[in-house]
Amino acid sequence: MAVATLTINLENLVANWRALDACSALSVETAAVVKADGYGLDAGHVAGALAKAGAKTFFVAVAEEGVAVRKSAGPDVEIYVFSGCCGDDAALLKAHNLIPLLNSPEQVNEFLPIGQAFGIQLDSGMNRLGMEPAEFASLKAQITAAGPKLVMSHLACADEPDHPQNRAQLDCFRAMTDGLTTRKSLSATGGTLLGADYHFDLNRPGVGLYGGAPFGDAKAVVGLAIPVIQTRRVTKGETVGYGANWTATRDSKVATIASGYADGLIRAIGNGNLNLYAGDTPCPLIGRVSMDLITVDVTELETIPDHLDLLNDIQTVDHLADAAGTIGYEILTSLGARYNRVYKG
Ligand SMILES: *Cc1c(COP(=O)(O)O)cnc(C)c1O
Repeated sequence: MAVATLTINLENLVANWRALDACSALSVETAAVVKADGYGLDAGHVAGALAKAGAKTFFVAVAEEGVAVRKSAGPDVEIYVFSGCCGDDAALLKAHNLIPLLNSPEQVNEFLPIGQAFGIQLDSGMNRLGMEPAEFASLKAQITAAGPKLVMSHLACADEPDHPQNRAQLDCFRAMTDGLTTRKSLSATGGTLLGADYHFDLNRPGVGLYGGAPFGDAKAVVGLAIPVIQTRRVTKGETVGYGANWTATRDSKVATIASGYADGLIRAIGNGNLNLYAGDTPCPLIGRVSMDLITVDVTELETIPDHLDLLNDIQTVDHLADAAGTIGYEILTSLGARYNRVYKG
């Protein structure tokens, strides 16, 4: 088989959820963000595993994403939609019992008369989604009378613990919500790690569940084994790949493996010092990443295995992200459709 295998370790996913849950008091619920198809790992599998482990609340980006989550996590969990109710979402929200997080006075005015469950998203300083303090103040009486299920906001800089905007947003969120009896939520993965001040009633981690920064203690969730399809000898002075970008400084053995940027291994990962692994043995990624192929210096290996690992417990999505000058979130959500996917646990 010349298709790479992406292994998604659902046991480690659940362990990460439990570890993040342990960061907060028992009274604080830990939900799970499964937007973008569970950060590229399949929202159905992810939500199913977490629901089985006891997660009761899920968040998706748009109503359509909630359908798969409802199906796999069952009828009893709460599923919130960050984008609120857009266009003709109301019927879909109702059909699958999804709860929109209303973002604007327009959404509030249109949705409240329908009489379905809703939450409120506030802007505490990120200026992306949610009602501004003045907008919320003018609608507060009407909103609280209708009984929102949750009031939430989102931190812009929580992956930098010392950033002054964290405290400023916390103060703003408190000022907007003090005195409300509605359940409150401010924190994603980063805020969960900032401590109890940021926890309120519910935390909403996403990336930490999937093994990514800023959750430094996360267990790796994703493994990627890529088949070796050819091995060749390259003489000292010869080059490998597009642009003749890599030159052998000694007589070498080079393996060509079957994944590339069309599989989400963005070309920029070739700029870093990444390895492919034969078990625990690192073999440098060399030359440019092609559409379907990557080349690897396997000179040090005595026997060439049938596959090499790009993602394992040693080299994670964050290492790939660093090599490419991006974030683990983008690596995860770029993982391609061509992989053979195996779910463990
Ligand atoms: C994506 C997102 C989250 C989860 O963020 P992570 O950094 O992945 O933990 C939580 N809340 C909102 C509003 C989001 O958009």
